[in-house]
Amino acid sequence: MVTDDNSNNKVTIMGAGLVGSLLSLYLAKHNYRVAIYERRNDLRKNYVEYGRSINLALSDRGWKALEGVGIAEEIRKVAIPMYGRMMHDVQGQLSYQPYGKENQAIYSVSRGGLNVALMDLVDQNPNIDLHFNQQCLHVDLAANELEMLDTTTQVKQKIAANRLFGADGAYSMVRYAMQKTERYEYSQTYLEYGYKELRIAPGENNQWVLEKNALHIWPRGSYMMIALPNLDGSFTCTLFFPYEGDVSFNSLQTEADLLAFFKKIFPDALPLMPDLVSDFFDNPTGSLVTIKCFPWSLQDKVVLLGDAAHAIVPFYGQGMNAGFEDCTVLNQLMDEHLDNWDLIFKKFQELRKPNTDAMAELAVQNFIEMRDLVADPRFLLRKKIESKINAQYPEKWLPLYTMVTYTHLPYSLALETGKHQDKIMKKLMKHITLESDYDKPEVQQLLQKLLH
Ligand code: FAD
Repeated sequence: MVTDDNSNNKVTIMGAGLVGSLLSLYLAKHNYRVAIYERRNDLRKNYVEYGRSINLALSDRGWKALEGVGIAEEIRKVAIPMYGRMMHDVQGQLSYQPYGKENQAIYSVSRGGLNVALMDLVDQNPNIDLHFNQQCLHVDLAANELEMLDTTTQVKQKIAANRLFGADGAYSMVRYAMQKTERYEYSQTYLEYGYKELRIAPGENNQWVLEKNALHIWPRGSYMMIALPNLDGSFTCTLFFPYEGDVSFNSLQTEADLLAFFKKIFPDALPLMPDLVSDFFDNPTGSLVTIKCFPWSLQDKVVLLGDAAHAIVPFYGQGMNAGFEDCTVLNQLMDEHLDNWDLIFKKFQELRKPNTDAMAELAVQNFIEMRDLVADPRFLLRKKIESKINAQYPEKWLPLYTMVTYTHLPYSLALETGKHQDKIMKKLMKHITLESDYDKPEVQQLLQKLLH
């Protein structure tokens, strides 16, 4: 057994995904000696394997965490701002809804590119040792020991790990060990929808064939497709679609079924997707899971972060952002409580759990908004009215999307405030049929009353 990592300033991270690699930089900043173990091979050496452009929306919580380790500016250079949603109806007609105020944007970044940038920083840091092709098979919580498999040599070894950070994603082995402890709370809930990544090809001279600075949505009531821009002029599309039923992954079995469906439902996108058939039939169908668990920590020995602690569905674009915010919060707690890990871990889970639970709820809610409501003119009118209220009463009214995406307010506060605002809007919208109705004295009076 490898036993040389017992001293107090040595820590172990399982998983060098987005959250694990960022976390290692924060821990190294606090002068810990960090060992990270990652099941995959070094994605920088095998970029082709991971080279499919898969992108993520990065927003303010994520940026803040990247700023904390000095990498935000570098990422900004390769991030594409998306200032609003562009909706495509079945006739190919477009409508646009800004995400926030002018210049407020979420950013499309390449998942692989971001991970590589973080790993490059990790490599340059003398306090961090990154071990690839190391799969955790078992965590012995009583003995503080990990059983690891070297996936290239197939050799197993045991490693001592006194302080273990589980950043090994939604199907975490670290959490799996915790789940076997007494009275452990755990739930995983799947949507009846899966997702499929597809692609819109670049146009001539690698130009974007759709508006570049927007997140595109094809809302179709019970399902939808979205597309985010990539630097090479392509868009990564994601089809969120039922597994079963009349219109579902199951119902589209042949090339002819698929093409007929796209021609009817996504007519403006189809001509832009030359690889649709192979993408659809060759790419895996991903599942959409929400995972909740508690506690996230065990004494001063183990803590879970990122998807390992709180996997959520992707409809608010907040999974990674929430995992990055975990790093920001843990960093603050390390500042405040130095090496008192028992206290740091306790406070961390107390602070984060209500917020990530709230984010999980908001993420599921947002699926309904994106696939259905954004195609409803009444809903779009309501959004316009909300931004007018925000402009008139900036101290009293921040739209829910803004709170989640452009502030660092606790997610739980955003959820609660959003529910309160929803009640107000239901009352107010009864008196509004046109945008200009907002200025009517009776509407203004009612609004003032409702805001007090
Ligand atoms: P992961 O990224 O899953 O990383 C875990 C790492 O641990 C991996 O490298 C894995 O190889 C390693 N690992 C796992 N098991 C072991 C083991 N036994 N031994 C060793 N290593 C192991 N979030 C956003 O903020 N914005 C978005 O726009 C967005 N879009 C999304 C779209 C989709 C379709 C999906 C599915 C998710 C999206 N997310 C988004 C969520 C985001 O991808 C996750 O929240 C984020 O990747 C979590 O990071 P993580 O490091 O916690 O976990």
